[in-house]
Amino acid sequence: MTQFKPVSELNRRSLLALTAASVSLAACGQNTAASQKHIAVIGGGIVGASIAYHLAKEGLKVTLLERNGLAQRASRGTFAWINATWAKQPRDYHALNQAGLTGWKKLQTELGIPVKWGGSLEWFPAAARQVRLAEQIEEQVQWGEPAEMLSREAVAALEPNVEFGDTDQVAFSPNDGAVDPVMATKKMVEAALKLGATLKTNCDVESAEETSGGRVTLNTSSGPVVVDKYVLATGADPSATQTLAGIDIPQRTTPGVIVVTRPHAPLIERIIVAPGVHIHQRADGRIVLGEQAGAPDTTAHTERLRDRPNRFPAQVFADQHAAQLLSIAEQFVPGIVSTEVEDVFIGWRPLPLDGHPVLGLSPDNQNAYLAIMHSGVSLAPIVGQVAAKEIASGLSAPEIDNYRPGRAFDKVRRY
Ligand SMILES: Cc1cc2nc3c(=O)[nH]c(=O)nc-3n(C[C@H](O)[C@H](O)[C@H](O)COP(=O)(O)OP(=O)(O)OC[C@H]3O[C@@H](n4cnc5c(N)ncnc54)[C@H](O)[C@@H]3O)c2cc1C
Repeated sequence: MTQFKPVSELNRRSLLALTAASVSLAACGQNTAASQKHIAVIGGGIVGASIAYHLAKEGLKVTLLERNGLAQRASRGTFAWINATWAKQPRDYHALNQAGLTGWKKLQTELGIPVKWGGSLEWFPAAARQVRLAEQIEEQVQWGEPAEMLSREAVAALEPNVEFGDTDQVAFSPNDGAVDPVMATKKMVEAALKLGATLKTNCDVESAEETSGGRVTLNTSSGPVVVDKYVLATGADPSATQTLAGIDIPQRTTPGVIVVTRPHAPLIERIIVAPGVHIHQRADGRIVLGEQAGAPDTTAHTERLRDRPNRFPAQVFADQHAAQLLSIAEQFVPGIVSTEVEDVFIGWRPLPLDGHPVLGLSPDNQNAYLAIMHSGVSLAPIVGQVAAKEIASGLSAPEIDNYRPGRAFDKVRRY
């Protein structure tokens, strides 16, 4: 059984060294045995796509199995802010996110995925919270981030179309970016296919059974698929790890409404993390709004949300929600008033109880590798690299030991 081992402080350099090591191993031809392995990746969201791509790069035979289409769950209903900001705690998890950002720069060059860099601007209405934010930014600086608190004059010069309310100071995290998550997922899958991977969509994986020689038969809605190992990048669906790997990962999945507008002339360059709403504008002009209020805690709502719908029960409710979110956003970006809504989607966060990723072989099933996480957009590149390296080499990377599936989920973190 995989043991939870606390590791000494992780830094970005050790993760980068780890991923560089995978390249040199492959270059030395030491992956011959690994290249004969057939790995299924279950789940065609951004995490599964990155793992499939990196496994294919390692020279493994890869089959990506997706119940619906690519990026139709959390990886569509996401705000897609790529960040390693103050909320990423503690230090080792922060470093993992920093490595995620570095990974996006690499993917941007390697696959031509457009990432809009430029940073984020964040502030709170309450004075006491602003003091705490300034302290958190100091900690960021100690952790290697070029973050700083800027005056309202300075941020007004950066973002002339944004109203910053009464605040005197705004936190600027210049390393942050944002991506179109559906496009990014598709680009990674396309690249995996070019490297020889196979994709099966509308393919529900229903069960997994061990066959002779330690191989596994995945029984799917399109017939059996025989593999050596399989990755569960199945997102917020808790039954997937129970049914397919015999492990219960405690999650407190929460919904969030994402509104995407039609393309609009340039209004904002940076990610605006304003009270009650997160806003960014993609390179194609579409503005993305992320709701911060969360669902009301009523019995009626709990009942409506039981099956984790991605759509409102009627268009009128979707329209009302979008109008409400736009009116909050308009306080900060008045020009948004002239935008038209294109899509309203309810995303469900894959959220392990302690807020950290679940990464590695199931303690009860050494054929099943789990990759379930929040901040999966920020983390997708580094998680893809590290998971592929572990699966290809059969070795385990101590840098991600804090995130193993067998750990005690004894803390609860909110998002
Ligand atoms: C509202 C919201 C805002 C967010 N904002 C951010 C943010 O700003 N930055 C950030 O980094 N992260 C953010 N996240 C989190 C991030 O979006 C997720 O962590 C990430 O999308 C998870 O990707 P995934 O591939 O693991 O899951 P998903 O995209 O949900 O993909 C899982 C896939 O597995 C498939 N599947 C499940 N079971 C089976 C089966 N048995 N057979 C076949 N297929 C199966 C599903 O159909 C699905 O397509 C946000 C999430 C939400 C909901």
